[in-house]
Amino acid sequence: MEQFLIDNADRYRNLVKAFKPTPAKKGGVETSAASPYITVCARIRPMLEDELAQGFPEGVIPRAQSSTADLHELRQKVRGPPVINSSDYTVDKLFDSNATTAQIYETVVQPLVPWAWAGGVATSFAYGQTGSGKTFTVSGLERHVAETLMDGSLEGERKVHLCIIELAGQTAFDLLNNRKQISILEDSFGNTQLAGAVEHHITTKASMTDLIETAAALRQTRATLKNDTSSRSHAICRIRIENPASSADDDGLLYLVDLAGSEAARDRAAHDASRMKEAREINTSLSVLKDCIRGRALLDADKGNTKTKKKAAAYVPFRQSTLTKTLKHLFDPASRRGGKTVVVACVNPCLADVGASKNTLRYAELLRVVVPKAAAPA
Ligand code: ADP
Ligand code: MG
Repeated sequence: MEQFLIDNADRYRNLVKAFKPTPAKKGGVETSAASPYITVCARIRPMLEDELAQGFPEGVIPRAQSSTADLHELRQKVRGPPVINSSDYTVDKLFDSNATTAQIYETVVQPLVPWAWAGGVATSFAYGQTGSGKTFTVSGLERHVAETLMDGSLEGERKVHLCIIELAGQTAFDLLNNRKQISILEDSFGNTQLAGAVEHHITTKASMTDLIETAAALRQTRATLKNDTSSRSHAICRIRIENPASSADDDGLLYLVDLAGSEAARDRAAHDASRMKEAREINTSLSVLKDCIRGRALLDADKGNTKTKKKAAAYVPFRQSTLTKTLKHLFDPASRRGGKTVVVACVNPCLADVGASKNTLRYAELLRVVVPKAAAPA
């Protein structure tokens, strides 16, 4: 398959050059562009040296001055030369391969920080297949968040607490306590507790970035030791912002989530029972996450309409996966606090991975199209 792509690279490039984009499709739906609660972006990473060296062309091309990307697959025909099969995807914000993590931070993630500082709940997710740039993006964003939290620009006295965990199936590990196993419990008030996770009180940017790096290194070591576990687990960095003048219920929460590789959910090579169970769990967690993000966005966009509100409440099935249970504060319709969500769909543009990129962009579009026009608030 890969050889077929390399052999036909020149033809492919010419077909892509000759491609005439049609205007981006627009359904009869209002999108989350109208919602202050969710921003769906895509980041197309640069081609890596070894991908270029092998002769692979780029298969995902952003349109200039637009938030739409074209994706071209190369298809073998029964007769005649191969053809391209093109599709386009539109998100709220599209970052091409020249975009820096600093730009992504400033454009979409930075606003989450004062929101959480004021007692809100905010989450940034990185979604995509293994190798698409999730960890690269999240670790950069974490550093920028540390800077904003600690540079003294935010008003009011707060205490910042950091905790970083890894979720593998239904098991959680504390990445700031030598990967000690912890449990995720719901207390009698319905609050999710990360029982046993150590929270670190942060007072300087340096101490925060040190902890972030410790957690990243621990995750990376495990990855090389045990056949890339990092691609099959979610990493959750939780920043709790305590206002000493207010009750604990009003703590702000900011989560930065590096999701499991989206391809792990469809691991067809998973033959042994435990790998199969793991793939099923990742599949469930990513699909429940999609339902929860959509359900919550619908709920937020339609505040006045109680009928829809009831319906939406039924459609935020956060109890159906450990990931969404852990992020209960973001999703639970009973939660008094407003939630803000940013999703960065990470895309590897290499033609060899275009199938996975297509799934990622489709997932992003599904998150974005949330409010039917008829039900949209005036
Ligand atoms: P993932 O976490 O999705 O598996 P990584 O973040 O580990 O992917 O990225 C895969 C590789 O691509 C790494 O070598 C990383 O340094 C590189 N990479 C990812 N995004 C970028 C980028 N925007 N610019 C340069 N290199 C990148
Ligand atoms: Mg990673």
